[in-house]
Amino acid sequence: MSAALRYRRVLLKVSGEALMGTQPYGIDVSTLERIAGDVKDAIDAGAQICLVIGGGNIFRGLSGVASGIDRATADYMGMLATIMNAIAMQAALERLGVPTRVQSAIPIMSVCEPYIRRRAIRHMEKGRAVIFAAGTGNPFFTTDTAAALRAAEMSCDGMFKATQVDGVYSDDPKRVKDAERYDFLTYHDVLSRDLKLWMHPPSRFPARMEFRSWCSPFTRKAICPRSCRAKDATPSSPKRRSIGRGDGQA
Ligand code: UDP
Repeated sequence: MSAALRYRRVLLKVSGEALMGTQPYGIDVSTLERIAGDVKDAIDAGAQICLVIGGGNIFRGLSGVASGIDRATADYMGMLATIMNAIAMQAALERLGVPTRVQSAIPIMSVCEPYIRRRAIRHMEKGRAVIFAAGTGNPFFTTDTAAALRAAEMSCDGMFKATQVDGVYSDDPKRVKDAERYDFLTYHDVLSRDLKLWMHPPSRFPARMEFRSWCSPFTRKAICPRSCRAKDATPSSPKRRSIGRGDGQA
């Protein structure tokens, strides 16, 4: 493995919506293939990559609730949607020659492996991409929580999110024109400013990991060898601001 890598082991969170491309629903194959290509580039550069994939392009628990399904049942449906996305991503990666394993938090043995932490680490050490499906396996959570959980379990150096927004803002940048983007936040900042951001409970995570929301797959590569090396991979923005020390220490 290259000693020059900034991030040796990375978890990439791909939201279900990121897979839709310009479609209103489901999986856009060219978008899927582009993200798979970016993952391949990162692995070829020597990084170990695992992914958590959402299911919002197919089914979200809360929309099921709105249709009258009870919350836990709707959430299980959402988790099953993430498994569909995960095996689609596995197929895309393997078409590019990247050996890939899907591990599901809900055992579904004839489709993929169950989640086994030590086995997942071993897969990555052997150069395989690992896709974590079915979120945390528990209703009332989201795949963002699963991403933080798995990144901690895998001892990842970085966690990246491929989504439609390129960072954390004081407000929704699509609606509020002068929303400010933050470079660094602590857990306390998130709560005190009511930023509605997913994050792992107090201090341990920000101290150990870099949190960067990396890019929209619609505008640039989700993850690339350069992003694994660069000291400051975050795209520049005219309205940026740091809260806290900004040196990765909470
Ligand atoms: N979900 C869940 N527990 C989890 C992860 C996901 O119940 O640990 C369900 C939940 O209903 C959620 C759906 O799966 O709405 C799809 O996940 P998510 O909304 O996080 O997908 P994304 O927004 O990333 O596409």
